Amino acid sequence: MNISHIEHIGIAVNSLDEAIPYYENMLGLKCYAVEEVADQKVKTAFFMVGQTKIELLESTDPEGPIGKFIGKKGPGVHHLAFAVDKVNEALNDLSGKGVQLIDKTGRKGAEGLTIGFLHPKSTMGVLTEICGKE
Ligand code: ZN
Repeated sequence: MNISHIEHIGIAVNSLDEAIPYYENMLGLKCYAVEEVADQKVKTAFFMVGQTKIELLESTDPEGPIGKFIGKKGPGVHHLAFAVDKVNEALNDLSGKGVQLIDKTGRKGAEGLTIGFLHPKSTMGVLTEICGKE
């Protein structure tokens, strides 16, 4: 497995309407896409920072993963996503090394990317996503 960079940092927010103006007006970043990922019960908004993105996540369902996270911990940093070429290969590699996976195989994430999550129990408490084109 070869991690090329941090693809994005996922941040749980109460509301995109409230969060986007902060990133745009205070930090001077530009939101270039808003996308609903029905699978994940979230609406996402993306900002580019160098080659890394900020992914804001607003829950569309209190029982979804972001809804539950905010219910427990409140808004804040949710996950870290590393970019690799081949997600399934990376997941197999990590699993072989004893890392506990949330996703045994890659699935579809925002922006048409393939994604897979590692379990925070195996990653020093950081929910970690592996993310790539295939
Ligand atoms: Zn993500």
